[in-house]
Amino acid sequence: MRILVSGGAGFIGSHIVEAYLAAGHEVAVVDNLATGRRANVARGATLHEVDLHARELERIFAEFRPEVVNHHAAQASVKVGNADPVHDLEVNGGGTARLLQLCVENGVRKVIYSSSGGTVYGEPRSLPVAEDHPIAPRSNYGTSKYVGELYVQLAARTAGIDYTIFRYGNAFGPRQDPHGEAGVIAIFTGLMLAGQPCTIDGDGEQKKDYLYVGDIARANVLALDGGSGLVANIGTGVGITVNHIFQVLAQATENTIAARYGPPRAGDVRNFWLDCALAKRELGWEPTVSFEEGVRLTVESLR
Ligand code: NAD
Repeated sequence: MRILVSGGAGFIGSHIVEAYLAAGHEVAVVDNLATGRRANVARGATLHEVDLHARELERIFAEFRPEVVNHHAAQASVKVGNADPVHDLEVNGGGTARLLQLCVENGVRKVIYSSSGGTVYGEPRSLPVAEDHPIAPRSNYGTSKYVGELYVQLAARTAGIDYTIFRYGNAFGPRQDPHGEAGVIAIFTGLMLAGQPCTIDGDGEQKKDYLYVGDIARANVLALDGGSGLVANIGTGVGITVNHIFQVLAQATENTIAARYGPPRAGDVRNFWLDCALAKRELGWEPTVSFEEGVRLTVESLR
């Protein structure tokens, strides 16, 4: 299959590219390298260093003629989105609309879209959070990622493009940027390996759904042939505290520096984990890498 992966030089996208190549598919990557890296793109995939809004994308679509477009390019930071809502919407809303327009014009069969389970639902009314939970994002990023979902469904209604929309929990694993804002696991691993202290926000008892990136890549492989018209959470269904993350990482990195505790992060949802029964039922997907094993693989890659 010919698959165009937007954001394929980023953290999650690069793992999807690898999984598609391993399954024997032909892969083209579109990425402006805003946060992605050339070195993340596996040999065997063609990287086009181009913005979602660039005219050049027309030529890339016409020449490569993708059958499936997997859309992972995004402004992926809650913090950046809140500081610059216009940029956030231009990339996540406008960029998605542009990509879908090209999908329609070029007869793409299916779009796979990466939405954000951790932000589109907002403050959970009950746990675990299933797909029918009200959509009530509390950030510009959560809002713009949901706008992307709406554009995908619009293209399905008006142009008959098939889709699968995934709402991920908190991804972690190799190639996540330890200097970024997104991933506490990557940030703490980077600090511990550098012999520096980690600061836990609040009391550290807040619980989130942390999912190993390899399991996300596998869901994206299954979506090539399954999950037609599906909007599904992709997570573990289990909440893990930041204190527990700290302990597991300290052991994996042989770090003995005590954690520091800072003020709680303003506006942060305290407890959050996803109900992933739908993905299991419709796609036969469930996570296979345990938290401890995922941490081991992450630490190994960052060493
Ligand atoms: P990332 O920043 O590593 O990947 C995003 C990629 O998009 C980068 O390679 C970046 O260079 C590229 N990009 C950004 N703007 C672009 C533009 N205008 N044109 C072309 N390319 C552009 O982030 P990630 O964590 O790998 O996230 C990938 C996707 O998954 C995003 O859509 C994000 O919203 C979604 N997501 C991530 C998580 C998570 O926990 N990391 C959770 C839920 C959803």
